[in-house]
Amino acid sequence: MRDLISFSSKYDGTKVKVVFLDRDGVINFERKDYVKTPDEFQIIPDVAFWLKFLVDKGFKLIVVTNQSMIGRGLSTHENLHLIHQKMQKIFSENGFQIDGIYYCPHKPEDSCSCRKPEIGLYKNAIDEFYVNIKNSWVIGNDVTDVLAGERIGCKTIKIQTNSSLKDVISEILNNST
Ligand SMILES: [Zn+2]
Repeated sequence: MRDLISFSSKYDGTKVKVVFLDRDGVINFERKDYVKTPDEFQIIPDVAFWLKFLVDKGFKLIVVTNQSMIGRGLSTHENLHLIHQKMQKIFSENGFQIDGIYYCPHKPEDSCSCRKPEIGLYKNAIDEFYVNIKNSWVIGNDVTDVLAGERIGCKTIKIQTNSSLKDVISEILNNST
């Protein structure tokens, strides 16, 4: 499902380069009992600082996240939206926004086509934003992110859960045009 799309480049025919970001453990601290409310959404301190470098380099930022807490009945679409508003507010204060947010609300046993490592959400984003896959990246803290990224043909980087993006940003900037 889509929580946000800021624009589409389809209309002027320019393909955009994207950094696809997993959310929990990459942008905010992962919790074993899920991030169910805005209060439980605690951003990793320097993440805005590092993501801004990608924005300045011309990347669009798209969040792709599994949120089975909704399917499990532990939280709601509405709460998730409020959580993302909190995230966007923090990023706005740093001079940028996440351009798109896509999430899977299903449980693993639902066998849907959007829960990572399935690529349904990425396919939607690639179509809706008109993404240049070869120049795009997937960053995640889970093997499912890397698998999905490889399936769609992006470059992928797996990070430690809840760690700084410092080295990741350097790697992307050093390997991008
Ligand atoms: Zn799903």
